[in-house]
Amino acid sequence: MAKRDYYEVLGVAKGAESKEIKKAYRKVAMKYHPDKNPGDKAAEEKFKEAAEAYEILSDEQKRARYDRYGHKGVDPQAGFGGGGMNMEDIFANFSDIFGDSGSPFESFFGGSSRTRRSAGQKGSNLRIKVSLSLEEIADGVTKKIKVKKQTTCDTCSGSGAKDSKAVSTCGTCQGSGYVRQVKSTFLGQMQTTTVCPTCNGSGNQITSKCNSCRGEGRAVAEETIEIDIPAGVEEGMQLSMRAKGNAGKNGGPAGDLLIAIQEKEHEHFSRDGQNIMYDLFLNFADAALGTSVEVPTLGKSVKITIPPGTPAGKIFRLRGKGVPSVQGYAGKGDQLINVNIWTPKTLSKDDKALLEQMRTSPNFQPKAGKDQKGFFARMKDYFE
Ligand SMILES: [Zn+2]
Ligand SMILES: [Zn+2]
Repeated sequence: MAKRDYYEVLGVAKGAESKEIKKAYRKVAMKYHPDKNPGDKAAEEKFKEAAEAYEILSDEQKRARYDRYGHKGVDPQAGFGGGGMNMEDIFANFSDIFGDSGSPFESFFGGSSRTRRSAGQKGSNLRIKVSLSLEEIADGVTKKIKVKKQTTCDTCSGSGAKDSKAVSTCGTCQGSGYVRQVKSTFLGQMQTTTVCPTCNGSGNQITSKCNSCRGEGRAVAEETIEIDIPAGVEEGMQLSMRAKGNAGKNGGPAGDLLIAIQEKEHEHFSRDGQNIMYDLFLNFADAALGTSVEVPTLGKSVKITIPPGTPAGKIFRLRGKGVPSVQGYAGKGDQLINVNIWTPKTLSKDDKALLEQMRTSPNFQPKAGKDQKGFFARMKDYFE
């Protein structure tokens, strides 16, 4: 049978704009949609014919070739593609035409949305935990992590079939990938098309399974994954890497890898948001007389000056020695150094004599006030 002119099929003029072509196709596709014309072979042919015409005319290159050479220019036998679309292809393309649901009818008929399906099922997400030191968090780090996961079978490349001859057309749907069902609804008998349960929509059936994976298309293996962890992450955050999770069944897409961040305890520091907190212990003489001390930071240690008369609870701030914001624009936090006075627990006879002398000296009698604020007074300042 000679093919009809594609412009005629869609009912548009030869110079029609792409918008017009899309509109015309939508109209014809609605009219001849198989859900609307159950069992009508002629309608199905018209439906396919329109899809083929639209496939060519909606593609600038194919349309130009068609305009120049006619049907020969887009003949699939000549390697040009065009024609030979199965129903699944047609429905898959519907998402551009009718929006996400893929069909204008299924919403009436209560069918599931029809999207392109491969035979495979999506792999599950894989969850791992990564423990990081504060130093790693401050700079960002690339971690190589060994994970046990389901990977695509090497032997069959995920198809699950022994070889290319071990695949035949699905007997349930005759290769179309979908099956029709008649349902009784309150609107009367309705026909719906659903993805073929036997082949999951691929149109193929495996007659002889791959020996390595027993037809699953995947196998458990250990894989080393490189994970780039940005600076500034925090305990409880979750990063995700697309398609790095478990491989899909029978060639389906892989799941995601979800990475939960854990913070290792640091020997010196604790963290408050972007700030790093450090408790410094001074002996009483150093605090009273002043000194200089070496303080660790997330990078190199730094020397700080302790002025004479430094009280317990004094906080020194090292600007920019904290952790960067994970968004990267808020700069770095600070390192806060909290001064504590070291109180000895074991004392010699001489130590005791020295301290007895201090105990009665007038300068050693506590006077709370502006210079010597206690913890609660400082907290009050902090929250006001
Ligand atoms: Zn295999
Ligand atoms: Zn099938």
